[in-house]
Amino acid sequence: MGSEEEAEYTFVCPECGESLDVNASMKDALLDRGCVICGASVSRSAFA
Ligand SMILES: [Zn+2]
Repeated sequence: MGSEEEAEYTFVCPECGESLDVNASMKDALLDRGCVICGASVSRSAFA
């Protein structure tokens, strides 16, 4: 219960194709640090 509400965005990595459901703070972390899987830089367009 409640865990789905935290996933506000779907991130799809343009490099490795990994998709993750993320919340706002995870989105900020991905934009700041890049993909957690492959390390590619991430832009806002990678989020839906
Ligand atoms: Zn990646």
